[in-house]
Amino acid sequence: MITRTDAVVLKSMKYRDSSKIVTFYSRRFGKIKGIAKGARQMKSKFGAALEPLSAVSLILYKKDQRELQLISQCDLLKTYKNIHSELDRLAVGLSIIELLNQLTHDEEGNDALYTLVVQSLDELERAQKHFMNFFLAFELRCASVLGFMPSLDACKGCGRKLDDLVSEDSAVFQSGKGAILCSRCWEPKTVLRNGASRLGRTGASGTYSDEGNIRVSIGVLKALQRLLNAPLESIGSLDLGSALGNEIDGTLRLYMRQHFEDLKPIRSFDMLKKLTGPSA
Ligand SMILES: [Zn+2]
Repeated sequence: MITRTDAVVLKSMKYRDSSKIVTFYSRRFGKIKGIAKGARQMKSKFGAALEPLSAVSLILYKKDQRELQLISQCDLLKTYKNIHSELDRLAVGLSIIELLNQLTHDEEGNDALYTLVVQSLDELERAQKHFMNFFLAFELRCASVLGFMPSLDACKGCGRKLDDLVSEDSAVFQSGKGAILCSRCWEPKTVLRNGASRLGRTGASGTYSDEGNIRVSIGVLKALQRLLNAPLESIGSLDLGSALGNEIDGTLRLYMRQHFEDLKPIRSFDMLKKLTGPSA
């Protein structure tokens, strides 16, 4: 069957003398792999359309139960020039597609997820600063689209709104449940056999238990709430600063590990952190 879909290129690798094997995230079929014959010849019809982070229109000879589809045509829709011209912006773009590649399975179409990745790259391309926010927002929104949306608006115990907790230092984020508990509702219950107490009322910000409960500042929860819900075009104006940024990153790492067991570290994101220098 000859079929057409829009897609974003996730990965591209050389194959034999003149071809490429390319992984796409497509609107119709989700993640899909194909072979582009002759793609590495000088006068290839594919041009730059098979490079990672290209938004393309793809025509495939598609057979069910075939792992590798035959790419008939692949035309560039968008190139994301700004993303390619700055190393830190590029590292964020690559982090987004690396995470997407890890979290998705072959041939599970998800229109909301496709729209999210394209919008995230569009806004990253347009942004003036705070590029890292786009990865943090994508991570949180991607988890949400895949069924793990955290509930950040109110304490799960008493229902007090997050905005009413700002006078308190911190709250507990239950990463396994994706819920928050205010200091009044959080009861340290158990003591581990080795005598170390589990995260308690006095636990320092950032400490966490083996159940994935982590004490975080209200500022972190407010920022997570915004990364999750604010219009994507406003994410670049959110100045997290390095301390808050690190705390959010740590909280999100824990959250993602709780829900996606096989998730490996995102190499492009580690590179980004090296690029942006040691942070407090
Ligand atoms: Zn409460």
